[in-house]
Amino acid sequence: MSDAPAATPATKTEERTPLLSVRNLERVYHLGEQTIHALRPLNLDIHNGDFIAIAGPSGSGKSTLLQLLGLVDSPTAGEVRIRNQIAQDLGREQRAALRLKTLGFVFQAFNLLQMLTARQNVEIALTLAGFPRRKRRQRAEELLSAVGLAERLEHRPLQLSGGERQRVAIARALANEPDVILADEPTGNLDSQTGREIVNLLEDLNRAGQTIVMVTHNLEIARRAGRLFLMRDGRIDEVDPDVPDSLD
Ligand code: ADP
Ligand code: MG
Repeated sequence: MSDAPAATPATKTEERTPLLSVRNLERVYHLGEQTIHALRPLNLDIHNGDFIAIAGPSGSGKSTLLQLLGLVDSPTAGEVRIRNQIAQDLGREQRAALRLKTLGFVFQAFNLLQMLTARQNVEIALTLAGFPRRKRRQRAEELLSAVGLAERLEHRPLQLSGGERQRVAIARALANEPDVILADEPTGNLDSQTGREIVNLLEDLNRAGQTIVMVTHNLEIARRAGRLFLMRDGRIDEVDPDVPDSLD
């Protein structure tokens, strides 16, 4: 038997390009005489398929970080990169276009348009995402059905429960098929049972491949994510989701 040629190692580690990353990111606020270091220089890599929770006490910098990841605020120093594109290198309009194409947002207060039905709230997002008019209605209905609201299409926000409103907001966030959903305290206005149901929905979306970054000050909610980061005084550390037993 002749010697087989040496196989090339199968497990050569490939550098995966993160979907979203920050490098030496700093955000300083100046308020009168006060200087607030909301984010100390920090680094974070978010990969395709991640379900990340960022937890920490109030004032630790969670929303500041999420706003920078969402390209709605600019850092004092450092970079936010979407794939390999440095956000600060783009002009305002290009950045807005990138945000529209790649990111979906979910907020604590739902931020739905009160005059519009659930279906119309989602259709607006589809319009912004460039969906042709004739496809919007069907697509909005599909998205709302996917979050369990097939029976609530023509309800306005005030005719929906808190949990149902957040489901509409999640359907809206999915409209542009975002690479990442950024959720700031998505369960913050909900009772604990409804909050758990919303996290179940986020978990289902993540299992289907959706990348999610969720900010919360609720440790029980945070532990449900695949990766847990704790923030304190503008710094961030990844921890084992089972380890912390309080945020203080
Ligand atoms: P968290 O979301 O974790 O509660 P934030 O990111 O909202 O924390 O805030 C971090 C710190 O930055 C806090 O000390 C907060 O008071 C301060 N801060 C946030 N936004 C502003 C702002 N626009 N101007 C001045 N200070 C701010
Ligand atoms: Mg906050």
